Amino acid sequence: MELERKEPPEDRSAQALLGELERQVQDVVRASSWWERHGVDCAILALSLLALPAGFLCLRFHNVLAFATGITILGLCHYTLTVKGSHLATHGALTESKHWSKILLLFFVEVCTAFPAEFGRFNHVNMHHGYTNVVGLGDSSTWKLPCLNRYVYMFLAPLLIPVLTPLVALERLRQEELRMALRTLGLISLGLYSQYWLFLNVSGFKSPSSALACMLLTRSLLAHPYLHVNIFQHIGLPMFSPDKKPRRIHMMSLGVLNLPRLPVLDWAFGHSLISCHVEHHLFPRLSDHMCLKVKPVVSKFLHDKQLPYNEDSYLSRFQLFLDHYEEFMVQAPPITELVGMQ
Ligand SMILES: [Zn+2]
Repeated sequence: MELERKEPPEDRSAQALLGELERQVQDVVRASSWWERHGVDCAILALSLLALPAGFLCLRFHNVLAFATGITILGLCHYTLTVKGSHLATHGALTESKHWSKILLLFFVEVCTAFPAEFGRFNHVNMHHGYTNVVGLGDSSTWKLPCLNRYVYMFLAPLLIPVLTPLVALERLRQEELRMALRTLGLISLGLYSQYWLFLNVSGFKSPSSALACMLLTRSLLAHPYLHVNIFQHIGLPMFSPDKKPRRIHMMSLGVLNLPRLPVLDWAFGHSLISCHVEHHLFPRLSDHMCLKVKPVVSKFLHDKQLPYNEDSYLSRFQLFLDHYEEFMVQAPPITELVGMQ
């Protein structure tokens, strides 16, 4: 005889709310074409790959304007492939084919970003998405460096990201099984060496040090907004304890924040990380374009049901983090207890 699990009424109502929202979003997805579901974002990523030769060639000219244009193109393309590409590939949001999802994941995360794909996916999808703002599990604490002061963290630390990423990857590989570690090492080396080779042979740099300096420059172009956006989206919002975490709809509506649309970041990071982060946390398998399309449905639903829908501007968040750096980034976060929502 099967025993029915007795759920408290609040659980049932939270599940019913999420179910109702899922049905509304499913209707929008079903009415959308392949182009809307995947095509728009695949086209942006393909354009970023196709623009790379122009970026490398610009650096051949001994002219400040051409050099600045080349670095801007290469930096923008680098962030589009590594942040938008890796993020969507990690969620399997670029295609419905499992086989292609795997290939795209390895290409964007290991070749382009120089990071172990499976480790990245586990940390992002299983931990951060599964336990958003749950202390010790998906609480964005990997972004905290309490030893740094606020100005060093906000202005200088981002420049370390391009150097730290492959170093963290190497450290991680020591714990992987040999076959997997060799594959990842091969793909990461392929990505780093091909960029270095292109600087020497297409851009015509004469010395290895100038090629390495340019690699660092393009890989740091949007490092500041990248670090800032990662902390603005969750830190400072309600945090939950692992044994009393709220239901999914409450967890996402309370613990996630949307920034306004910002054209450069929309392009390079994707809507799911900028103006549709709430939508992305509720429906992580939707592409950037689809997150933008379902945004009116989700925001209206949460407003109608009197659930939080966090929005703030980049500058206001920036000021808030500078003013409350100790509280947000150094001290342990206070736990929010939600009566009747756990
Ligand atoms: Zn995500």
